[in-house]
Amino acid sequence: MNDRKRLVELDKLHVWHPFTQMREWLSKEPLIIEKGRGNYLIDMDGRRYLDGVSSLWVTVHGHRKKEIDRAIKDQIDRIAHSTLLGLANVPSIQLAEKLAEIAPKGLNKVFYSDNGSTAVEIALKISFQYWEQTRKDNEKRKFVAFTGAYHGDTFGAMSVGEIDIFVRKYRPLLFEVFRSPYPYCYRCPLKKTHPKCKLACLETFEMLLREHNEEIAGCIIEPLLQGAAGMITSPPGFLKNVRRLTGKYGVHLIADEVATGFGRTGKMFACDIEGVNPDIICLGKGITGGYMPLAATLTTDKIYNAFLGDHGEHRTFFHGHTFTGNPLGCAAAIANLDVFKKERVIEKLEGKIKLFKNLLKSLETLSRVGEIRHIGLVAGIELVKDRGTKETHPAAERVGDAVCMEARRRGLIVRPLGDTIVIMPPLTIKDAELKRIVNIVRESIVKVTGT
Ligand code: PLP
Repeated sequence: MNDRKRLVELDKLHVWHPFTQMREWLSKEPLIIEKGRGNYLIDMDGRRYLDGVSSLWVTVHGHRKKEIDRAIKDQIDRIAHSTLLGLANVPSIQLAEKLAEIAPKGLNKVFYSDNGSTAVEIALKISFQYWEQTRKDNEKRKFVAFTGAYHGDTFGAMSVGEIDIFVRKYRPLLFEVFRSPYPYCYRCPLKKTHPKCKLACLETFEMLLREHNEEIAGCIIEPLLQGAAGMITSPPGFLKNVRRLTGKYGVHLIADEVATGFGRTGKMFACDIEGVNPDIICLGKGITGGYMPLAATLTTDKIYNAFLGDHGEHRTFFHGHTFTGNPLGCAAAIANLDVFKKERVIEKLEGKIKLFKNLLKSLETLSRVGEIRHIGLVAGIELVKDRGTKETHPAAERVGDAVCMEARRRGLIVRPLGDTIVIMPPLTIKDAELKRIVNIVRESIVKVTGT
């Protein structure tokens, strides 16, 4: 029995895959990735696939990036792990300095964890505890989150999230939040039309803050782009006004840049595009260039200072993970940021983004393409049954999934979010590869939908 056959057997016997109906998985042959090189994934038979989703938002500079490989190897020769509880370590200090330098202004204190969901939990807990420790008779104990939000799979993150199918079963365990409409303009929750609406969703948001600011600790947002909701891009000015209004009503703004951070939107952070400085930012995914599980929650000196006190006052932030500040992860992240600087990655993105935009335009002629949403090097292509009415395909048809499987046969890995096809290649994607990705997506849509 060859290696692959045995691994398939063992995978089916032992591995429980995330967000996966395992009965279906067990009925199919899994694709087992063995290697990566540049913008390609390579399976056990040596077949190459373009990594069209950056291995789930993380592979920033492609696979096997020499500088990051080396940084991890060098760090292993020193130490793989030591705890940040009661000790410091070299790379976590160096990385914190670099993060504070590139983060939106004022975010000076870094709290490490190991995935995006924990970065969000930490942000929520910091915001909550801040008010508990700075206000007498504090009532600021709730959060505002947006329709369609996704912030991760832990309980706090699920509570602020709103993708029904992900959270429905856990509802009895989730805390209540105030929900405000996110500008999903293609299917406006307020049934208005942009730009005629003049961002009416902001009025709803302001009304909520005006009425309830005494109860609200913070507002969490996926800035400029809601990822899991289907790559929903928000119109210019929305984020900036959310910042203005949270400031006006004394509510923390928590920017969840787990997905949007590290160049994905064309700037280092989505907040940079509208010059927004949040009170707390959550980072993960691309932070190590796709090498190690690391995340960080950054906040201001003002918030941090509210946690200072005598030991007995219990103002401490009682939170931490075994791998908080892991040296291997931090070494990878430092190398990742050094590559950004040395190769002037952000500065070089503009041309690629323009090309991507033009290539995507060519999909508009397909009759089942309802809307193409695009920012930086990420796009969502929403497929519909009827363009005029925006009627969706019946969920059971799983058209998005079929298109992605078709793309896989043609050598491209992309993923669907419902019937939205997501493209988010590594920032190192070459022009010819970008063209090939969009071509394959086009062919696959045509093959599946017949139009
Ligand atoms: N926040 C956002 C905006 C995300 O897109 C994700 C994951 O997709 C998370 C948080 C959770 O990150 P993780 O999967 O690393 O826990």
